[in-house]
Amino acid sequence: MSNVPITVAHGDGIGPEIMDATLHILKEAGARIDIETIDIGEKVYLSGNSAGIAPESWESLRRTKVFLKAPITTPQGGGYKSLNVTVRKTLGLYANVRPCVSYHPFIRTKHPVMDVVIVRENEEDTYAGIEHRQTDMVEQCLKLISRPGCEKIVRYAFEYAVTNNRKKVTAFMKDNIMKQTDGLFHKVFDEISAEYPGIEADHWIVDIGAAKMADTPENFDVIVMENLYGDILSDVAAQIAGSVGLAGSANIGEQISMFEAIHGSAPRRAGQNLANPSGLFLGSVMMMVHIGQPDVAEAAHNAWLRTIEDGIHTYDIFKEGVSKEKVGTKEFAEAVADRLGQKPETLKAVEYKQVEEVAEADKKPIYSVLNPAKKELVGVDVFLHWWNGNYYGAGADLGPKLEAAANGDGLKLVMISNRGTKVYPKGFEDTFCVDHWRCRFMADEEGKSISHQQVIDLLSRVNQGGFDFIKMEHLCTFDGEPGFSLGQGQ
Ligand code: NAD
Repeated sequence: MSNVPITVAHGDGIGPEIMDATLHILKEAGARIDIETIDIGEKVYLSGNSAGIAPESWESLRRTKVFLKAPITTPQGGGYKSLNVTVRKTLGLYANVRPCVSYHPFIRTKHPVMDVVIVRENEEDTYAGIEHRQTDMVEQCLKLISRPGCEKIVRYAFEYAVTNNRKKVTAFMKDNIMKQTDGLFHKVFDEISAEYPGIEADHWIVDIGAAKMADTPENFDVIVMENLYGDILSDVAAQIAGSVGLAGSANIGEQISMFEAIHGSAPRRAGQNLANPSGLFLGSVMMMVHIGQPDVAEAAHNAWLRTIEDGIHTYDIFKEGVSKEKVGTKEFAEAVADRLGQKPETLKAVEYKQVEEVAEADKKPIYSVLNPAKKELVGVDVFLHWWNGNYYGAGADLGPKLEAAANGDGLKLVMISNRGTKVYPKGFEDTFCVDHWRCRFMADEEGKSISHQQVIDLLSRVNQGGFDFIKMEHLCTFDGEPGFSLGQGQ
């Protein structure tokens, strides 16, 4: 069997040490890989490349399609973009997979029975980074959730469960509040879970779900989430399992995949042979399965479990009375290599199988191609920067002024809200208001659609009335279903 080319970046801080340790174990375990090394991170940023990765490095990634990446240091200040977010989004690495496992009684944890895999959506949500200051008082971040994005991540979670013999997939979302975005995620979860009758499907509102995960993680198996919830809760899950220093992660795309530790470059520990290489190593185990060398993954992972069980620990997980020997990065890797061929005695040994190649023709599409819906424009939300100096009761002042200036031509003001809460008509004096107003105009005849030209003319009247409009959003129905939420109290 020929070697598999992979791209490797040694990163910054503790990166080079933990990468050497990881590659040492893989080599001793017989990994059949050819390594292409690229530079990323601090050095590249400081050379004037604000993306932190050189053009020729992208070529290597496109060629090998497999990236083993050590953590990097993002210089503070300046216009540096997060390399991780750049790589994930540019290469379409849509699924971030983080297994969070406890190793009781060998590594201290409050949760002796924990084996949770977080599947985090990696491309959209508030991570689009589309943010604007709109008024003196208000900043906005756009949360974008797409149907194909939800389909890809939810299907990935169920396929992961099938391949890895998992029993249950749980979704966390906040669709009681975000009925459109998180509502779509929930809807897609219900649709796709129905295709997997052998896997239990379950869902929680993210706040209580997070609380339950932190309290009784043994009740969870695979958890699928949008980007931001997944970012936060995968760190929580890794930490309560024992340490963020122990968790690895895979970033999976349709073509290219990236494997890494979840922790950063820990600059204060760099160059001292202190760092724990386990996070990156466990990321590399996922890589070996991914590239079709489950034999290597299994041998290396079991040797690692045996090392942990034998109490050979780096400083971060060393505990007097439990650990036997405190070792450095290099010695830890040598201890794992020495145990190749052995299995853990108390902890559960791992087994990895060859992931069967599915013929291109038999592959299930991971997202559907949508037929465009019948879309009708039924209204418009016009956002204003407006301030009369009063935090309370200003909606009752704004409403009649705006009506006088803008109503007409088949359109009328039906509601004004301030940060989502209705303040006109019939607002409460008690509602705290800032200088950012959402003013909803709809056809003056119930159920009638409106035209783009009517919207343009409306904006003209709003402008001529002396109002500073900062943006607008169309209110549409899609196949008759409203594609917009009501104001709180509307
Ligand atoms: P960090 O994860 O580097 O360190 C947090 C704490 O954990 C520190 O006390 C550190 O000593 C300890 N720690 C982390 N990994 C360890 C290991 N393998 N062994 C032993 N101890 C370990 O987080 P930070 O200090 O917030 O960030 C440092 C730098 O890393 C920043 O520049 C940040 O931008 C970057 N970062 C990079 C990545 C990545 O490349 N994937 C991820 C997170 C942070």
